[in-house]
Amino acid sequence: MPVETVETHCPYCALQCGMALDSQSQITPLDFPTNRGGLCQKGWTAAELLGSGQRLTTPLVRERRSASFRPVDWDTALEVVSRGMRAAQNDHGPDAVAVFGGGGLTNEKAYQLGKFARTVLRTSSIDYNGRYCMSSAAAAANRAFGIDRGLPFPVIDLAATGAVLLMGGNVAETMPPFMQHLLAVRDRGGALIVADPRRTATVEAATSHLALTPGTDLELALGLLHIAVVDGYVDHRYVADRTAGFDDVWRVATQWWPERVERVTGVPVASQRAAVRALAAGREGRGAVVLTARGAEQHGNGTDTVTGLINLSLALGLPGRPRSGYGCLTGQGNGQGGREHGQKADQLPGYRKIDDPLAREHVAAVWGVHPSALPGPGPSAYELIERIGTGDGPRSLLVHGSNLAVSSPRSGRVVERLGSLDQLVVCDPFMSETAALADVVLPVTQWAEEEGTVTNLEGRVLRRRRAASPPPGVRTDLEVLSGLAARLGHETGFPSDPRAIFDELRRASAGGVADYSGITWERIDTEGGVFWPCRSEHGPGQARLFADGFPTPDGRARFVAVDAGPAAEDVDDEYPVYLTTGRIAQHYQSGTQTRRVPVLAAAASEPRVEMHPDLATSSGVRDGERVRLVSRRGSASGTARVTASIRPDTVFMPFHWGGEQAVNRVTNPALDPTSRMPEFKVCAVRIERESVD
Ligand code: SF4
Repeated sequence: MPVETVETHCPYCALQCGMALDSQSQITPLDFPTNRGGLCQKGWTAAELLGSGQRLTTPLVRERRSASFRPVDWDTALEVVSRGMRAAQNDHGPDAVAVFGGGGLTNEKAYQLGKFARTVLRTSSIDYNGRYCMSSAAAAANRAFGIDRGLPFPVIDLAATGAVLLMGGNVAETMPPFMQHLLAVRDRGGALIVADPRRTATVEAATSHLALTPGTDLELALGLLHIAVVDGYVDHRYVADRTAGFDDVWRVATQWWPERVERVTGVPVASQRAAVRALAAGREGRGAVVLTARGAEQHGNGTDTVTGLINLSLALGLPGRPRSGYGCLTGQGNGQGGREHGQKADQLPGYRKIDDPLAREHVAAVWGVHPSALPGPGPSAYELIERIGTGDGPRSLLVHGSNLAVSSPRSGRVVERLGSLDQLVVCDPFMSETAALADVVLPVTQWAEEEGTVTNLEGRVLRRRRAASPPPGVRTDLEVLSGLAARLGHETGFPSDPRAIFDELRRASAGGVADYSGITWERIDTEGGVFWPCRSEHGPGQARLFADGFPTPDGRARFVAVDAGPAAEDVDDEYPVYLTTGRIAQHYQSGTQTRRVPVLAAAASEPRVEMHPDLATSSGVRDGERVRLVSRRGSASGTARVTASIRPDTVFMPFHWGGEQAVNRVTNPALDPTSRMPEFKVCAVRIERESVD
């Protein structure tokens, strides 16, 4: 048989590297703008998941309190699920059934999941794991610019700029092909400044490292703004013509003089000054960009931290200037599209607010229901889980595309909460840690076995194309929703054809902030992707935002006055070390996929606990021995890796593993008051050796 090749995109991160996948599961990187022929080891090995012997191929049902599953046919499984949902709602009302989605779901799935929750279940209890990912950056961008598109310019603009400040991202490990764009800045004599408590692989490539104390990102942002003002780098004309609110912001920043910032953050005054000088010099030349990633965002004050950095970028006059601005490096594969189409607790499709009467009217008309039939905003991801087992909390939970037992903060408690549900239903290609707790597991297709669209970190809408047949017995998430909707009395309105769903999504998004109405699958094919907003089939998508103003009522960007305070938890005598978490090169998110790829699992089979030699000595820990990190919430074990690349007061542990190795058993669920993002990036721990000799 001739070998057939399909052009598609990587199943993992938001860079959405272009790749060709052939019918013999061979992957070839493509010269797509974000990856320019590069792939990381996760992308190169992605096809191994398709033939994995660990695939689930039949629905599984667990009798109540039974230890094991029994395989059943699809009709039986869907009947069990719909019966459980009906029982929960009959006894306890609509919100007794909750839905949990994911930032890896295609646009069509995210849209259909939101519609299913709001019109079939009529529940307000729906949120998704993107709440744990980029919600702080989204909230900050929305209030400053009136829009949240991770990068408001194409990735290729980065390679041409003159200076980049990257706050809290280790892209050399998380999205390696992205590094070529940053290295182009450095190699042309520009500045690449990275703020991170660790000396990461990204820092190694940088021109400057701001090694801040975990949890002091906002103090640093305020200090950089202070320097920009005092040292004369503010673009006063830009501030006067294009923004509002600067005076209030300066009233706060005036209190964060460089020496105070050095005392709090550990970043020397000279490094602070050099960073601002470099950004200002870049602005006068090719351009300057401020980027954030999870290191700056996953805090109890993550929205304010990102706001502090947006304030800096506005004071320097960057957003809307060529090759300049502020951007967020979205993490999950469809982290951008996943937050636009209505699987968020507070949102309807088109990035519309669920409590906006006009938005409700528009979307209700597309869905063929009365606006009053749509529920209002519901609890955020962690709060939804916290409510399980309480009087009016969820009794039944449907999960698509998320391994929340590993990715949620204080995950030991999350596992307990999931165990108290009347019914937990998990749709997954694999037996994830969350699926293992379920009452019903529904085996679903993977990335290359289905059609759909995703939206990458630039806001470019892309096609994921089918390149392989799924194993017999497996269905798509859309077929699952279609089958459940029919059993719950909605015979129409829930097709399983992703193209039909995309066409409806276009109508639902029309006129919204994230307007897809002009985007068709055909255009994506011929144009190699289309940027949103795209309001007409005959006009281009908007690749670069803000050149002519901001989508706010008066066209001006908003400075928002924010001030710093202590992290939700500080170190003390009992828990004397800071913990920060993150990702490593071999694994993606909760590891459900990558831990099943043999070459990746062999290269990183267990979590490492990075600690400085001084800390190792004072803790009596040797390199390579088993250690346990203990916090007020739980403990997690890993292997000590002694390295001078981390601050002596801090340990780092990646979050890709479950069970005893799940670092999220330790992390702090203190929530950002605006975005409801948990404080993943800093908490207080002590180190214990597992074997005492
Ligand atoms: Fe590209 Fe990200 Fe996939 Fe790696 S994981 S190949 S960086 S899309």
